[in-house]
Amino acid sequence: MKNAGPEEGGMPMPAEAPAVRPVGDADYRLMVDSVLDYAIFLLDPEGRILSWNAGAQQMKGYEASEVIGRHFSMFYPPELRDVDWPQRELDAARAQGRFEDEGWRLRKDGTRFWANVVLTRLVDADGGLRGYSKITRDLSERQQQEELLRTSEERFRLMVEGIKDYAIFMLDPDGIISSWNAGARLNKGYEAGEIIGQHFSVFYPRNVAESGWPAEELRRALADGRFEDEGWRVRKDGTRFWASVVITAVRDHSGRHIGFAKVTRDLTERRRISVLEEEGRRVTTFLAMLGHELRNPLAPIVSALTIMEMESIESATLRMTRDVIARQVDQMRRLIDDLLDVGRITSGKLRLDLVPLDLREATLEAIEASEPLIRSRSHTLDVDIECPELWVRGDRTRVAQIIGNLLTNAAKYTPPGGRIAVRLDEAGLNAELSVSDNGIGIPPKLLPQVFDLFVQGEQDVARSQGGLGLGLSLVQQLVALHGGDIAAYSSGHPGKGSEFIVRLPRTQPPAETGAAAQKPPGGTAQRRILVVDDNRDAAKTMALLLQRMGYHTDVAYDGPSTLAAVKTGAPEAVILDIGLPGMSGLEVARQITAQVERPPRLIAATGYGQDQDREDSAAAGFCAHLTKPLRADELAQLLDSLFGGVSDGVYRPAP
Ligand code: ADP
Repeated sequence: MKNAGPEEGGMPMPAEAPAVRPVGDADYRLMVDSVLDYAIFLLDPEGRILSWNAGAQQMKGYEASEVIGRHFSMFYPPELRDVDWPQRELDAARAQGRFEDEGWRLRKDGTRFWANVVLTRLVDADGGLRGYSKITRDLSERQQQEELLRTSEERFRLMVEGIKDYAIFMLDPDGIISSWNAGARLNKGYEAGEIIGQHFSVFYPRNVAESGWPAEELRRALADGRFEDEGWRVRKDGTRFWASVVITAVRDHSGRHIGFAKVTRDLTERRRISVLEEEGRRVTTFLAMLGHELRNPLAPIVSALTIMEMESIESATLRMTRDVIARQVDQMRRLIDDLLDVGRITSGKLRLDLVPLDLREATLEAIEASEPLIRSRSHTLDVDIECPELWVRGDRTRVAQIIGNLLTNAAKYTPPGGRIAVRLDEAGLNAELSVSDNGIGIPPKLLPQVFDLFVQGEQDVARSQGGLGLGLSLVQQLVALHGGDIAAYSSGHPGKGSEFIVRLPRTQPPAETGAAAQKPPGGTAQRRILVVDDNRDAAKTMALLLQRMGYHTDVAYDGPSTLAAVKTGAPEAVILDIGLPGMSGLEVARQITAQVERPPRLIAATGYGQDQDREDSAAAGFCAHLTKPLRADELAQLLDSLFGGVSDGVYRPAP
């Protein structure tokens, strides 16, 4: 915009500048005397003090009267006076016209301050030396700040130098290494002395260095302020490591580019772990797939077996081989089911059907199911379930699987004739189930990993216990899915055995399906059932199960005492094991039917479910034939139909 002149109608200019008062010596004196930030005073040619301003008084603490006429060396510390420094300052100022210095000076109270001093030679019109002016500034504060900065830089440098987990070093703008910390030394193997001054491309595999990538990294860091990369780098000894690298362009306070900071982290271990994790995932996916593929051919084999079992086979050899196939197929089915479960759990596809569940009942059922294995290895089983009903929220099949697996292991890892104990009780807000044995125990080395996938203890060459190391891992994960936990205890001494304790959170019993609601119609409380089995544990658990359903129970372990109990106790039903030693169950049934006027209902319990077996039991007077392991719901249904008179297909009246 153009300035508007008076002729253009702008602001009128003053016709004349106001008169200015001429500045006299007094003004100069006032000006100098009043300055507070600088000590300003005059010295005569010998260095004696001639004047003293307010700044001098404030800075040095002397009144004018205390200093006028004295030599200015009084402000210098002894070490400077000893070397005649004040005189050398004067000489320099006289020779060069001006002398500037920085250093310690003294106040009246003896304290020191860091001063900037300018001495100026004063000459008169004839060129004669009249003296010197001396202007002193107190730089203590600035000095302190610079000192602080220096020490903080020093500390920072020491810190960076000491860091061991990261290689941190500086590059100049061309990529030449200019600093080196402990992490860099450890990580890359070079000492500072041998690497500073080299180009940082020595850390790259040769083909990468030759492709120009290092320079490209610097270019990108400069363009964007920062560049991040991951890749192989080379140590001094030629080995490679996988590195995460951050390069930051460094500028000084004026914005000038002065180099790069490079931070490198060795990720080899992390990369190794993620590769292993990926492999682990692939293996579990493969196992799940394997499970599916194996199950397909298994299904028709199982169907074929069922058909074979329906046929009466004359040849004992063929019957024996068919039973071998049946047992082995069953074993294979269990392994495949475990494989599939591992796949389901690791992929998060396992669905639990959580309902209020009486853990007593689930435990007894699982014991029932494991009973053949326990018996085949001649173990005794102690069952300690004193507590009243114990409700948890659980998936019926999975809870049975948890307990079944623990019982199977206890039976497997205990030499024949051992003792297995199951204890169930409340523990605060939890239900606590313990399965213990007096078997081979778990060595301390194995104990911490015993729940890991595929982990197995040492087994003999024949691998007599078989298995894939999946069972306990599945148990642990199923327990966790139920909101519980499991722990394993063992001293590792053979014969001292192991104990597994499962804890599941307790829940309220459901109002409509409580114990009362589960009782069969017809007033089970009045009904008495006699359970007969030479395996005392099997007899006792069956009795417990029946009590749980609301029946009164008695137990007998052989034929003669069964006959006696029927005559004296008058049970309304007898669940009779066919395979009793001495007097067989069939014989016992025949004698009861023959000797007792109003014989109780006789239910056969046996491992054999062929047509011939059923016909034999019916002929002996049994009204129903159940195959072991007995299932609680099947049994409840049968008793219900017996006492309630409802026929449901399981119940077979005697001919
Ligand atoms: P598997 O039985 O198929 O080997 P598990 O996961 O069920 O797999 O068990 C893992 C390992 O834990 C077993 O190989 C065995 O060494 C050990 N183990 C499990 N239960 C017991 C037990 N009751 N007594 C001794 N060792 C056991």
